[in-house]
Amino acid sequence: MSEDFKQAALDYHANPKPGKISVELTKPANSSRDLSLAYSPGVAEPVKEIAADPENAYKYTSKGNLVAVISDGTAILGLGDLGPLASKPVMEGKSLLFKRFAGVDSIDLEVESESPQAFIDTVRRIAITFGGINLEDIKAPECFEIERTLIEQCDIPVFHDDQHGTAIVTVAGVLNALEIQGKKIEDAKMAVLGAGAAAISCSKLLILAGMNPQNIFMCDRKGVIHSGREDLNQYKQAFAVDTDKRTVDDALNGADIFLGLSGPNMVTGEQIATMADNAIVFACANPVPEIMPEIVKEVRPDAIMATGRSDFPNQVNNVLGFPFIFRGALDVRAKRINEEMKLAAAKALANLAKEPVTQEVLDAYGVDSMAFGKEYIIPKATDSRLLGAVSTAVAQAAIDTGVAAGPLPANYPLKSLDDI
Ligand code: NAP
Ligand code: MG
Repeated sequence: MSEDFKQAALDYHANPKPGKISVELTKPANSSRDLSLAYSPGVAEPVKEIAADPENAYKYTSKGNLVAVISDGTAILGLGDLGPLASKPVMEGKSLLFKRFAGVDSIDLEVESESPQAFIDTVRRIAITFGGINLEDIKAPECFEIERTLIEQCDIPVFHDDQHGTAIVTVAGVLNALEIQGKKIEDAKMAVLGAGAAAISCSKLLILAGMNPQNIFMCDRKGVIHSGREDLNQYKQAFAVDTDKRTVDDALNGADIFLGLSGPNMVTGEQIATMADNAIVFACANPVPEIMPEIVKEVRPDAIMATGRSDFPNQVNNVLGFPFIFRGALDVRAKRINEEMKLAAAKALANLAKEPVTQEVLDAYGVDSMAFGKEYIIPKATDSRLLGAVSTAVAQAAIDTGVAAGPLPANYPLKSLDDI
């Protein structure tokens, strides 16, 4: 990163006010009558209504459009465990994106916790304040148990975006890449590098989308996760396959898909060259992918390539998912975000990429044309149709699977943030 860019990032955060979010009022608070309605004595009326029926909190408070972005700071971006306070810019950033893309109000909460249980207890005790909880940057494997327990104990959606946001966008990209390369998901063989939060969640959702678990060869630092290994935690164990493959080389040889969610420059052009014809290469380690697109292009011009970066085509970017997933879940008062809702979001993203690209997107990228194909398999973040497409798919899936407390709102499908 250039010195100029580093300084620009610091200046952006410091000026004109420190941080990226603020609270705004939604009601008049000028006259003495306004104040007596907003606070004492008027405020006692909604208090009594909510005490009589908790559902009224959705009617009289901001709960229904408020998401907490919560972290313990144990896995901040790709930077590691730098503690909760250092995670605050990321969490504020997430709040910024929630508001900017889906009109969701959110507040960041950084938790000092000495154990996963302490973290769980803290979140559980404050959950009633919110309509949903976005867990963020919590390290594996603790993140799995933390999320599972909180989903069980809270009656609002709890969603670990590093797992599922990534999975939803990845599945969208993989579905379209398979279609373009003329491959079937049921038959596709996939080498996964990384067996952490993102890799496990992506693989699970791909299985739900139709991939055969026996065709997934997941690798950690010790190589392929196979049934003969005795060092596996329960989350990796779920991906142990009966196979002779042992190394990343073995996993890649003949694979249709490479999914990298590990670290920088982990695979070589020679390894990618051994993949099946019309390969699909998702090298999603951030900020430096497992292999750079120019190397893949050289050894395998037939491949479709995606990364986590905005400076190459096909960016796997969580912002395509989480704002709209919460939008849809909040708007039908879903009790949880289930697998069907995640898959519906992935399919909505995949389908949107097949629609003609709008002038708004072309202008934002300064290009004359862009169309569904090898270099455009996933929609762009600036595509305002994401709001309607993804939130409607998620809300409908919540209704269809019986986790929604309300119907599809009258203003659906949302056309713009003004509808919210
Ligand atoms: P994580 O939970 O820490 O998992 C990292 C995994 O990578 C671990 O399973 C680790 O193996 C494996 N790994 C590390 N070095 C390896 C090596 N040399 N060879 C084989 N495996 C290796 O992290 P995460 O949250 O899943 O994220 C992983 C990567 O994906 C990061 O670079 C992150 O930036 C990126 N990511 C990108 C996106 C996106 O593009 N949208 C989203 C999420 C994550 P062990 O289990 O043996 O330690
Ligand atoms: Mg994150």
